[in-house]
Amino acid sequence: MQIWVNGALRDADAAQVSVLDHGMTVGDGVFETVKAQRGTTFALTRHLARLTRSARGLGLPDPDLDEVRRACAAVLDANPVALGRLRITYTGGLSPLGSDRGDAGPTLVVALAESARRPDSTAVITVPWTRNERSAVAGLKTTSYAENVVALARAHGQGATEALFGNTLGALCEGTGSNVFVVLDGQPHTPPLSSGCLAGITRELVVEWTGAQETELPLAVLASAEEVFLTSTLRDVQAVHRVDGRELTGTPGPVTAKAMRVFDERAAADLDP
Ligand code: PLP
Repeated sequence: MQIWVNGALRDADAAQVSVLDHGMTVGDGVFETVKAQRGTTFALTRHLARLTRSARGLGLPDPDLDEVRRACAAVLDANPVALGRLRITYTGGLSPLGSDRGDAGPTLVVALAESARRPDSTAVITVPWTRNERSAVAGLKTTSYAENVVALARAHGQGATEALFGNTLGALCEGTGSNVFVVLDGQPHTPPLSSGCLAGITRELVVEWTGAQETELPLAVLASAEEVFLTSTLRDVQAVHRVDGRELTGTPGPVTAKAMRVFDERAAADLDP
């Protein structure tokens, strides 16, 4: 596997980033996961815009997006896969003390992992831990994913593949690696960005393409929602068939099935919407 590290393609086994890199010592890095199919990326322009927003949110210098595009193309060229995900990681860079940022400049790594197509439906749980919608890093795609790792492990322990967070106000927020939609009275709704959720690219496209509403929703809405679905780069639109042990019959329901169809059609017609 060839990966991009700070300006050049390198063999993944030999590639090096310092152990004093900020992303390692204090976790102030940002990242993107971009879907790649047969050598082409999906929605790269939106991902790069979010990478810049996240970097600015952490006070990192703007990433050189021409280099990031070149890196993505080079990594895809060097590693042909039918379906995969490019992982772009951008950190504060080398720090001699591991605390203050040094002068060496940021670190950019672009790697690729092969992916399998997601199952059409999945089970989710809610977790008692909250997203803080007023956090300094709310909505930024930072490399500090430890809380998500813990929540996802709990989901796996209960036979689910995703864990959903509420925020400090008791409102529905998002999953560990996905945004959430619920269907109420036949209409799809998703929490607004003010809930503290990530501005998911797939969420954004589903809102644009299906007219889903951004609505503040109590976490308890999950107990009565007619349908629930998740969106993310790796899942696209994925129906939920069980929430906290409650089976949702007839999954995917009609609204979810329509969102899946619309997403698949529009995404196939435009690779950089
Ligand atoms: N929320 C979180 C916390 C995520 O990590 C992700 C994706 O990894 C998403 C939502 C979905 O975002 P996207 O559709 O851009 O993949």
